[in-house]
Order: sequence, then structure tokens, then C-alpha cells
Amino acid sequence: MSSPITSFTDEALIAFDTLADRASNLIQPTLRLGVTGLSRAGKTVFITALVHNLLHGGRLPMFEAAHSGRLARSFLEPQPDDAVPRFQYEDHAARMISDRIWPDSTRAISELRLVVEYESASGWNRFFSGGRLCLDIVDYPGEWLLDLPLLGQDFAAFSLNAASLARSPVRADLAAPWLEKAGTIDPHKPADEADARELARLFTDYLRACKQDERALSTLPPGRFLMPGDLDGSPALTFAPLPNLPDTPAPKGSLMAMMERRYESYKSVVVKPFFREHVARLDRQIVLIDAMQAMNAGHEAVIDLERALSDVLSCFRPGSGSLLTSLVSRRIDKVLIAATKADHLHHESHDRLEAIARRIVERASSHIGSSGADIEVLAMAAVRATREATVRQDGEELPVIVGTPLDGERIGGELFDGKRKTAIFPGDLPKNPDAFFKAVDAASKPPLPDINIVRFRPPLIEETENGIKLSLPHIRLDRALDYLLGDRLA
Ligand code: GDP
Repeated sequence: MSSPITSFTDEALIAFDTLADRASNLIQPTLRLGVTGLSRAGKTVFITALVHNLLHGGRLPMFEAAHSGRLARSFLEPQPDDAVPRFQYEDHAARMISDRIWPDSTRAISELRLVVEYESASGWNRFFSGGRLCLDIVDYPGEWLLDLPLLGQDFAAFSLNAASLARSPVRADLAAPWLEKAGTIDPHKPADEADARELARLFTDYLRACKQDERALSTLPPGRFLMPGDLDGSPALTFAPLPNLPDTPAPKGSLMAMMERRYESYKSVVVKPFFREHVARLDRQIVLIDAMQAMNAGHEAVIDLERALSDVLSCFRPGSGSLLTSLVSRRIDKVLIAATKADHLHHESHDRLEAIARRIVERASSHIGSSGADIEVLAMAAVRATREATVRQDGEELPVIVGTPLDGERIGGELFDGKRKTAIFPGDLPKNPDAFFKAVDAASKPPLPDINIVRFRPPLIEETENGIKLSLPHIRLDRALDYLLGDRLA
């Protein structure tokens, strides 16, 4: 447990950070937007598409400020935090638009400042803000948020939780090598670096296996084991829970004492600074989830997504959590949960995906507090890689989506080369999500929605007669922007 002294110090620091931010906010209106989600949820693609659409006057009819013609211009400026890597927007955009290859995914934190100049709808605001908003976009792995509960757990509690999850039926086979090895080691034996490294490696392998496509389980803490950032190989990451801890305290110089110390270092040098320096300073947050992949993988993956989302949301809706929990989240007033990659579905199913995502969010938030940030849910595709069409078959019109499957992608035994287009029937989501969740709750195998998830290449961007590339097509990105930024551009 963190001592009251430590918590007080954190509080003082957070108050200071916030104050400094507020002071500069008076001179220069700024909105810090956090973009997170578990790996492969679509963070890099989302930020690239958002910035590209704002820089190039994309089609954003549901984003009021854009639709009413009040956006004057947007441009990139150096970011305010020198110690945080810059989000490499230009590289990502070039890969996606010129090469039609998806960009490299988020591996650590990065930041980008976009300045939006606009004409305020109200004379009062025009006078005060001068119609200029600095949007600081902060991209970070959702895995890192899952570390928050660790701050309230000592090493024994962490080990107990990790072991009981690892022994659950859906994970037991994946965790077997780690559990077996840990079972042969006496926690009271003398500390040995080789043991620590072996246990950390086996534990990390197990966490990685949970993420494989066919299992699609969400990550468990420690979040840096799969997303180490620049800490790869450091002692603060070379530990693992010990499943068979004796009740007696760790003898000096024992393996258990070493693991305990490193676990505490992980919390103090990795987890706390991350929350204090980054999460605590955010104003708004978007959380991307890949609900379709979870549904495709089955009942356990959906339950698991709910569990991870519940941990993520508790960072923004603290309820009656610990002191630190309430501190990190007091500033964020709006959270958008966006189910991504809606372009894998025909538009008739977009509302259904949204309804399912809403149910997942409701279920996840039933475990946490109801005060704190306002939460909204949306189905979206930051980049639309497909177009819709209809195919006639046996006198019936079938809705299909058309796109270019990635090089090496297989559909029904047919291998694609990354050049040829194809039309697929994307499948249907259940009209009423209730049936699906009833089956999930009954732990009976719910009827899996019959969706075909094909990985398509990014779309070919058309050019105008003057050779100007049009902006990236999307689905409902404009609604996301309206919710996240609209009131700050009023
Ligand atoms: P990150 O780990 O959250 O940064 O995830 P990325 O943004 O790198 O996205 C992971 C992968 O998901 C990409 O390589 C794409 O294949 C796919 N993806 C992400 N967003 C979209 C989208 O809007 N439409 C489609 N069709 N695919 C997407």
C-alpha cells in the first residue's frame, strides 16, 4: 500500500502541474486529448486520420464547427513537452496515403500539437480566446492504464490475483509453463538474477499468448511487460508474481525480497510518474476498443474486454477509490469509448455495433463509480478502407463491402496479393444485443455473430483535377470530433 506521506506528495505535485497548466491555458486555450486503447485497437490510425482531416479540410458534416464553415485553418506546432517523443504524423500519413500500408502501431507514449483557428459562434468567446485552440494529442498504450489497481496492492495481493487469474480455465493452459516453473522455486531461496529473469520471461510469454488473435484476451498488469517503452530489460521490469507465497515475511536477501522490491520500484518509478505526469493532465479522453474482434473470438474474450474496460474506466470515474485514483481523474470531464473498424461492416450494422459497444460499456461501468467524467459511446472507422455495394445472387440483392485485401490475406482458401480488389459479404451483427449478452452471462457459448473480418489495405485516396489529394475517408469520425472538441470551438 502507498503510505499517506507518499500520497500527500503526489497530491502536491499534481496540484502544481495542474496549476501550471491552468495558468498557460489562460494565455493560450489548450485541450489535452488522451488517445488510448489496448494494442492494435487503432490509436495510430485514429490520430493520423483526425489530424489529416483537420489539416486538409476533410468531409466532416457532423462536426458542427467544420460544417458551419467556422474552421479557419489548422496547422502543426512544436509540442509543449520536450521530454515526450513526438507522434510521427508525417511518416504515418505518408505510409497510409502514398504507400497504402498501415502505419506502425503505438509502442509507447507520444504527443502532437495541432493548432485550430476558428471563428467563434459567440462574440463573447471571440473576444476571449481569439479563436485559437491548441489541441495537444497524447497517444499512449491502454495497457499502461491497467496498472492503476497495482497502486493499491502489495506484492502478496498482486501475486494472489495474478495466480488466480492464471489458473482460470480460459488462461490455465497458456499460463502452465510459468506456473510450473514458479511451482519449483522456493520464494525464500537466495535471490538469483537468473531466476528473476526466467520467471519474468515466462510470465511475459504467458501475457503475450493471451493476446493472440484466436484467444483475443485483454492484457493483464503489469502493463509494461508487453509495452515496455524505453524500460525494456530494466530491473524494474525484471520481476514476476510468485504464486506460492508463504505467509512469513521475506527473509533478507531472498528471491521473494528481491521480487517484492522490484515490484515496489515498478510502482514508484514507472506507474506513479506516468499517472502524475500524463494522465492527470488530460482534459478529455478517447478509448478505442476492438469489439468485433472480441465477439469473433467468443464469450471469454467479451467478458475479458469488459474487465479491462472496467479497469480503464475506473481511472476516469473513480467512485470511492483511493486518494490517488481520485486525483488522477479529477480533470477529465468527457470520455468517448469508440468501437473501431466499423468499415468491416455494412452501414446497416453500424448502429448495431454501437448498441453492442454501449452494452459492454454499461456492463463495465456497473462495477465502478458513476461520478466523474461523462461517458459516450460510438461505432467508428477512423479510416474507411472499404466501399459498399450490392451483389445479386439467386435473385436476391446482398449488401457487400469492397476493398483490397492485404498482401497474403486468405479468404475461403483464396490468396490475395495486395493489388486485387474483392467484394465480401461482411456478415451481420445481432439486431438485439440482449440475446448475445444473456448467453454470455449464462456462460453458454453465445451464438457468435457471423462476421467476416478481412484485413484490407488503406484506401486509394482520390485526387482532384488539380492533383490535390482528398482527405482520408472515415465513418463517424466527425461525430467523435464534435463530442470531444465541439464545445471548445463554440
Ligand atoms: P494501435 O496499436 O492502437 O496504435 O493500433 P493501430 O492504429 O496501429 O491499428 C492496428 C491495425 O488495425 C492497423 O494496422 C489496421 O490494420 C487496423 N485498423 C485500425 N484502424 C482501422 C480503421 O479505421 N479501419 C480499418 N479497416 N482498419 C483499421
